[in-house]
Amino acid sequence: MSWHHCLCSLALSLLLTLVVPQSILAADSWQAGLAKVNITPTKSMWMAGYGARNKPSEGKLTDLWAKAIVLQDASGHRALAITLDLVGIDRILSQSICQRIEKEHRLKRDQVALFCSHTHSGPVVSKNLRPMHEYLLPADQKELIAEYAQKLEDQLVELAGAAVKDIQPAKLSWASGKATFAVNRRTNKEAEVPQLRADGKILGPSDHDAPVLAVHNEQGELRGLLFGYACHATVLSGYDWCGDWPGYAQLELEQRHPGCLALFWAGCGADQNPLPRRTVALAEDYGRQMADAVDATLKQAGTPLTGSLKTTYRELAAPLGTLPTKEDLQTAADGKDKYQAARAKMLLADMAAGKALRSDYPYPVAVWQLGPDVQWVILGGEVVIDYALRLKSDLRGTKTWVAGYANDVMAYIPSRRVLIEGGYEGGGSMVYYGLPTIWAPEIEESIVKEVLQQAKTP
Ligand SMILES: [Zn+2]
Repeated sequence: MSWHHCLCSLALSLLLTLVVPQSILAADSWQAGLAKVNITPTKSMWMAGYGARNKPSEGKLTDLWAKAIVLQDASGHRALAITLDLVGIDRILSQSICQRIEKEHRLKRDQVALFCSHTHSGPVVSKNLRPMHEYLLPADQKELIAEYAQKLEDQLVELAGAAVKDIQPAKLSWASGKATFAVNRRTNKEAEVPQLRADGKILGPSDHDAPVLAVHNEQGELRGLLFGYACHATVLSGYDWCGDWPGYAQLELEQRHPGCLALFWAGCGADQNPLPRRTVALAEDYGRQMADAVDATLKQAGTPLTGSLKTTYRELAAPLGTLPTKEDLQTAADGKDKYQAARAKMLLADMAAGKALRSDYPYPVAVWQLGPDVQWVILGGEVVIDYALRLKSDLRGTKTWVAGYANDVMAYIPSRRVLIEGGYEGGGSMVYYGLPTIWAPEIEESIVKEVLQQAKTP
């Protein structure tokens, strides 16, 4: 660019500053593109989320969707969020999808994030929860799983292209609502929750914030609602495809606002359940409660998104604890616990193929700055609520959005507190995901440090 152009544009921006309020200019400079694709399996296949299921899917309560939103700031910098009505995604599939999106749609790794709703009524996704599915399912299911993963990858790459193609001027605004159906499942007994709720005695910690990004077109019509909440999608545990409560929330919002796409991302709800649960009526009811929370934010003025977009992504070496010996694994492989045995067989097979046990894991952390206000922290794995509470307190409160279940769902991610307390989220769950041992106590500090570094990058 020549000095002449620079001076001209400087003069122009000075002139515009004088005649147009800066907030309107900046708000007008954002653009957005939206798209969706149906990812409901077309064949009956194994469902993911509960080890106790003993047969493939039988029917469908709701379709499962992948949805995409591309945000673009005035300089043309873009970020693509893909939300998935799926339990999780593994590193290999996630990398493959992101590499193809980079090649075909020129969005680099830091500009793409894949968010899973963690519905427990969706299909097995590729190598996610690998020991359970690789060692405990009938052979014909493995073919269906591979087939579904390949189709999903193609669909998501195409979806990214459709969202990019849809990019158009938009008015973006954000607000934060509240919903209260998430209950800390470590500190409240499930059977007692109705009474505890009635008595106002539900124990935390929980995070009931529901951040919302609203997308309007230039005519003021609502085109998109992106919202998050920290709670497991585990109301249902049957044999019918279903988006669980997040699926019903998205359906409800799309019915209330024709022409609008609703996109859900899961927060740090690893130790939070929707309670009570186990009926379709309850899943629908939590969906409505979530939709009400999102709609309530629309009635507020909302804060316009101004400024520019910044995207960062790094993988840190998240430390694991003491590794098992080969003899430990052999004992587990021969033991009675079928899940322990499956993991041990998988790790022994990996070792025999020359792959040493991991002593750390490449853990994905991204931070997207949406203008001067909103800071979207994007974490992998099933992250417990302590991370959301700590990061919001260290950073910007409700302006800091903390997503889990993004990019790679490799295990539960306990805080130091939960790790030391133990239990399912602290360590018991590791066996289903296939990592060789529990996390080291430094896990929380290493993740928080990486987030703060990215969040404070000017
Ligand atoms: Zn979970």
